[in-house]
Amino acid sequence: MNTPTIIIAGAGQAGYQTAASLRQEGWDGRIVLIGDEPGLPYQRPPLSKAYLLGKVPASTLRFRPAEWYEQNRVELIEARVTAIQRGAHSVTLANGQTLPYSHLVLALGARNRVPDRPGIDLDGVFGLRTLADADALAPRLADARRAVVVGAGFIGLEFAAVAAARGIEVDVLEVGTRPMARALSEPMSSAFDSAHRSWGVRLHYGEGLYSVLGTGGRVTAVRTTSGKQIAADIVVYGIGVVPNVELASAAGLTVDNGVRVDALLQTDDPDISAIGDLVSFPCPWTTQPVRLESVQNAVDQARAVAARLAGKAAAPYSALPWFWTDQGDMKLQIAGLSDGTDNTVVLGDTVARQFSVLCFRSGKLVAVESCNRTSDHMAARKLLARHTDLRPEQASEPGFDLKAFEAATRPSA
Ligand SMILES: Cc1cc2nc3c(=O)[nH]c(=O)nc-3n(C[C@H](O)[C@H](O)[C@H](O)COP(=O)(O)OP(=O)(O)OC[C@H]3O[C@@H](n4cnc5c(N)ncnc54)[C@H](O)[C@@H]3O)c2cc1C
Repeated sequence: MNTPTIIIAGAGQAGYQTAASLRQEGWDGRIVLIGDEPGLPYQRPPLSKAYLLGKVPASTLRFRPAEWYEQNRVELIEARVTAIQRGAHSVTLANGQTLPYSHLVLALGARNRVPDRPGIDLDGVFGLRTLADADALAPRLADARRAVVVGAGFIGLEFAAVAAARGIEVDVLEVGTRPMARALSEPMSSAFDSAHRSWGVRLHYGEGLYSVLGTGGRVTAVRTTSGKQIAADIVVYGIGVVPNVELASAAGLTVDNGVRVDALLQTDDPDISAIGDLVSFPCPWTTQPVRLESVQNAVDQARAVAARLAGKAAAPYSALPWFWTDQGDMKLQIAGLSDGTDNTVVLGDTVARQFSVLCFRSGKLVAVESCNRTSDHMAARKLLARHTDLRPEQASEPGFDLKAFEAATRPSA
């Protein structure tokens, strides 16, 4: 191989960003971006929000128009990568073509976990991961009267909010005891529970999907694990994702809740990096390696790998995790990771839905969840990134203001 070639497998958020950042960092070799979804690379967050509400057209989801790829010499190939030959430094595509690489970046993302339940194949049952999924679901919202959502995670509840706003009766089944429990503190979960109820959404905790019922091949109802039957024209499941690790695994790379990478986002093979929803990485913000599913994670990891491959000094990846979700009139922004939280302090007005929850672990601020308080979120990102000491007692003092505290503790330039 004459020209140094970086192959990026997976053309989602992380794959596209790697290509863009490589050019920004001055990489002059070949870039081949291979994705198995039709059309130009696009962003997923609006799929369960503005796009499903019919507020934005599909064209606005694309990261870049077709000319950008040409102008930046990014060779975009629509194909499935079926094998990695580590010894030969090449990948094989579904059509049998083999492409050589000097470095391979795996950005294969994740796919929806499908409930293994009778009736799950009936017409009217949807997952929501891709543009194709959203395009199949959106037209059905026009005449649907009742929707059942399986799983009160971010995507299930974003869909529930959209459906309720469109006048559809919504029931949500959640096996746990509160919404978005995997990622949110109890006070914030509780605020979202109240908000959804105020929009008319019925939340059923301790309830799972037992089966989907239908007539003529089309869904008519679900049966829950406790034996209830709930009528439905559409069923949307959002019970988490499975990272697309099979290629890496077949190539002998270590896989453990995602493809395992080190602090430089390298796999066991120094010529293969991996990023985004696909990977489990050592995160300085947690004690255990984590796999995160967020735009921030995909983008920041792509930038870090691109800089390293373009010859910048490699530094351990340490970006602060942050995330957002929009549900009805609630814009939630999360800075940091709240797992292991043992104390919380609430700032602001929960009734007016403008408040933040400060999450502490052993007296140390680890995350801030802000509902309609973007200024708190921005201050929290700065405070957490510089490990500013803030004790729960301080935050509980009357009149405590996070933005003012951030400004007061800012190191002088
Ligand atoms: C509906 C929805 C709403 C979301 N909302 C938010 C939000 O509000 N905020 C937020 O921070 N995050 C949100 N996310 C999460 C965010 O979109 C993901 O974390 C992000 O897309 C991950 O990027 P990625 O590139 O790692 O994976 P992906 O975007 O999934 O891209 C991986 C790509 O690789 C392709 N691929 C897989 N296998 C192969 C193969 N063998 N050959 C070729 N191509 C392959 C896949 O088809 C896919 O196109 C949302 C996700 C969804 C689905």
